[in-house]
Amino acid sequence: MGREMINAIRDSLIFYRELGFQYIPGDRDIGSCKVHTDPSRTPFIKEKINDPDAELDSLRKEIGDCHRCKLSSNRTHIVFGEGSSRAEIMFIGEAPGREEDIQARPFVGDAGKLLTSLIEKMGLRRDEVYIGNIVKCRPPYNRDPEEDEIDTCRQFIERQIDIIKPRVIISLGRISAQSLLNTRIPISKLRGRFWEYKGIALMPTFHPAYLLRNPKDKWLTWQDAMMVLERLGRK
Ligand code: SF4
Repeated sequence: MGREMINAIRDSLIFYRELGFQYIPGDRDIGSCKVHTDPSRTPFIKEKINDPDAELDSLRKEIGDCHRCKLSSNRTHIVFGEGSSRAEIMFIGEAPGREEDIQARPFVGDAGKLLTSLIEKMGLRRDEVYIGNIVKCRPPYNRDPEEDEIDTCRQFIERQIDIIKPRVIISLGRISAQSLLNTRIPISKLRGRFWEYKGIALMPTFHPAYLLRNPKDKWLTWQDAMMVLERLGRK
């Protein structure tokens, strides 16, 4: 038997052992569906291959006490994002504000309360969706994040999207939509229809902070939310 074949057999045996098999089933075992596994091992192969909670934890560790951009100098906390790692809907805003910076949680101030009530009106709970921002540290005086800060930090929210694989992204406000779609089109022209981000449907809508200042536009965001629910077959 050649060295190559021995290596191939060894690799296969390691592979089966990793899956929890104690021996390789023969024809008779397959016919009677008898597969012996060690119950102490992880039973679900999907869990082993795709564990979004572990992947998010490892991304958070990688970000560490980040000083990759100048927003690090004024922040209190990095606001990583929160919610279900298997969410069908991801809400993405632009940056943490004062309250978020203090609590290390996204959308917990007045704008956050409005977002929570939108989520609940959609028939969901906050912990069923995922909420994050384009940049993870609060810009001083709540100014807009600058281009270099967005360029540096965006990789992290993009990786969160890759891990969570939502069916729909709802981007909140101009900066989030323009960053994800790499466009300069104003939010008033972006909202109200689906776009695509790496094969995922993306619905831009107004930022809740804008809606607090312009409550007359709340119904437009509700229209956007209804289109998302319809797309997900929840309406
Ligand atoms: S905004 Fe992002 S890149 Fe900049 S310091 Fe914070 S975590 Fe790092």
